[in-house]
Formats: sequence, C-alpha cells, structure tokens
Amino acid sequence: MASAPAITVIGGGIIGATCAWELAGAGARVRLIDARRPGDGATRASAGVLAPYIEGHPASPLRELGRESLDLYDAFIARLSADSHRAIVYQRNGSLEVALTMEEAERLSAASAVLWREGVEARWVPGPVIPDLEPNAAPDAPGALLIPMHGFVGVSSLTVAAVAGARQHGAEVVEASGAIEVSRVPGGGVRVRTDAGTWEADMAVMASGSWSSRITVEGAEPVPVRPIRGQLLQLAASPGTVRHTLWGTAGYLVPWPDGSVLVGATVEDVGFDESATEEARHELLEMAAALVPALKHATVADVRVGLRPRGPDDLPIVGRSAAVPGLVYATGHYRNGVLLAPLTAQLVRRLVLDPAAPTIAALDPGRCGRL
Ligand SMILES: Cc1cc2nc3c(=O)[nH]c(=O)nc-3n(C[C@H](O)[C@H](O)[C@H](O)COP(=O)(O)OP(=O)(O)OC[C@H]3O[C@@H](n4cnc5c(N)ncnc54)[C@H](O)[C@@H]3O)c2cc1C
Repeated sequence: MASAPAITVIGGGIIGATCAWELAGAGARVRLIDARRPGDGATRASAGVLAPYIEGHPASPLRELGRESLDLYDAFIARLSADSHRAIVYQRNGSLEVALTMEEAERLSAASAVLWREGVEARWVPGPVIPDLEPNAAPDAPGALLIPMHGFVGVSSLTVAAVAGARQHGAEVVEASGAIEVSRVPGGGVRVRTDAGTWEADMAVMASGSWSSRITVEGAEPVPVRPIRGQLLQLAASPGTVRHTLWGTAGYLVPWPDGSVLVGATVEDVGFDESATEEARHELLEMAAALVPALKHATVADVRVGLRPRGPDDLPIVGRSAAVPGLVYATGHYRNGVLLAPLTAQLVRRLVLDPAAPTIAALDPGRCGRL
C-alpha cells in the first residue's frame, strides 16, 4: 500500500464518521460516502448514553468492550473537538438505576455488591436518600444504583464534529451516494459501485449500519445485520428536573443541558420502517412519569426514530473480510454504537493501516458466516 492509502468509508453514521476522522487524521486519503446525509441513520435518534454497566450483560465481552471504550472517551472528545473546532455536548453525570419495586431493589442492590467486588465504583442509594441526588424521582422508590462514571454525549454534535474533523484532514464527503456492490480490483484494491458512481481505493470500510446487509460483497454472504427500530422523545422541562441519567426497567431519561429530557427508547422488530407511532409516544410518556412524576404533563418537543443495526449475537461485527481482502466491516453496533465508537474507530484505523494488526476475536466477521 502507498504511504497515503486511499480509503472509501461506506456510511456516515457515528461509526463511519469517526472511522473516517481517525483514518484521515492518520494520513489516509478518505472518501466518506452516504446514501443520505451523514448522521441521518440510527445516529440521529440516539440518546448517547455511555453506560456499559447497564447495557452490558454481566461479565460479557460487550461489557468489557464498553468499559474499554468509555475509558477512551475523555481523550477522544478532547482530541475531536480540538481537531474539528466544534463544541461537543458531553457529560459524565453518572447514572441512577431506580428500583420501583422491592424485587427490583433486591436485584439492584445485589448487582451493586457484585460491581464493587469487581472494582467498579457503584453505590446502593437507599430510598430516603434518593431525593438528595434526584429531587424529582418517584417518591416511593425503595432505592437506586448509582454509577458515577456513566455519562452521555450529544450524538449529533459528535458526528458533525467527526465529519468536520475528517474534512480538516482532507477527506471528501459524498452525500446521496448509496453503495450497491463492493468487489476486489484485480491486482489489489477495492471497487465500490454506488448509485452515483464507482470508486476504486486501496481499502474500504463498511459502516452502513442496518443497511449493510443490502450491499453485495463479491464472494461473501450478506452481512447478517437487521434493523431494530427505536423511538425516543425529547420533553420540554426546566433545568434540574432530572440530574443523572435515570434508568427504570422500561426505559431511561437523559438530562439535556438545556433542561429538556430525552426519553428512550422502544425496541421494535418492524423491518426498515422508520416512522413514529402514537403507541410508542404513550408508552414512553408513561414510563417517564413513573420515574419522574413531574414529567407527567410535559410537552413533547421532538420525536426521533432510528434503526439500530443488530447482528446475530448483539455484538458488533468489526474486522477484515475474508472474501474481499481490502474490505473491513464496522457494523452491527445495535444498542451501543455511541458507547463503542472510540474503540471501533481506533480498531478500524489499525486494521486498515497496519496489515499485521490483530483483530478482536469476539468481533471478528468470520463468526457470522462467509464474510
Ligand atoms: C432510539 C435509539 C436510542 C439509542 N441510544 C443509544 C445510547 O444511548 N447509547 C449508545 O451507545 N447507542 C444508542 N443507540 C444505538 C446507536 O444509535 C447505534 O448503535 C449507532 O447509531 C449505529 O451507528 P452506525 O453509524 O453504525 O449506523 P447509522 O447511524 O444507521 O449510520 C449508517 C449510515 O449509513 C448510511 N447508508 C445506508 N446504506 C448505505 C449505502 N448503501 N451506502 C452508503 N451509505 C449508506 C445511512 O444513510 C447512515 O447514515 C440508540 C439507537 C436508537 C435508535
């Protein structure tokens, strides 16, 4: 490969945009293509919660990878905002997982003890103490699990910054250009045929989220990623109504810096349908009011819908294609694409730029079929 390799990144969601930025920053000549506009896929709907110890299952690779990625976040945001000259909404405000029944309280206090033993800062907060931390939480909650290291990021601001950062390093961004087929170029390199033209490059990265399965890869099976719809509300509220990221068994609330509150999220297997539904709106409003009764009559300021890319085992698919040697997959991030973005971008940079770089076995595409 030449000293400044040419790379085509397919898809400009948070994964493709951050990979493009990392690669361009490392000296590659990057072309970022998107079927729509960067950030218009699942990324636009995301709540941006950074919480490996809630979303990850105990002792699973997802939890370990989530923690590893969370540990990269401070430096990642600092570097990206300096590079792009963009402000990125980012707070490590802690999460409070609120028990609304005695049964949930028992489960969460046991989880708190397990996390402590594993060296994770986690604290069980008895019911009477909750108002000191979260004055508007359900008054009869028997307790809550506090994890101070958790936080959230403004996903749109992060993605806009990643695209701007990539451009600063010379990347070209091509909108309305959907990849149809990826194939090998005889003698080396990768060809990406799109509905707006065909490009050849040394390497390509497939970061097209839920739509990855629709792109034909020469000699490979379709990547087994399917869309899982998520709907999220933004409620108008006064600053301080919610302070931490609050979790209940049915969803979560994120305190936005302007005081409004994000309420997420549904998990629906409805194919490529990106429409919002009344049913979800009611469900989410009910859940929000159960956690914070003051939100019962809050105005819905925005409704967002996105399709989470889900692979067969809920883990991302990140690694080299066996069928097309110049192709690297970076897809299937399902419910944790924002949390896992720094780790994914770093791994993709290594896999693309260093032929000897090892992959992470748990994420290897080979586990999902002939890819
Ligand atoms: C409601 C909701 C809440 C969420 N909350 C969280 C959260 O709190 N924390 C967290 O970590 N994650 C969360 N997620 C998950 C997270 O949003 C996803 O994992 C992440 O956005 C996936 O990013 P992506 O770049 O892979 O996919 P996408 O954002 O979907 O981007 C894929 C891009 O590829 C483009 N594309 C599609 N087809 C083609 C093609 N043929 N050629 C070129 N481009 C193409 C699309 O236009 C799109 O821009 C949430 C998701 C939803 C829906």
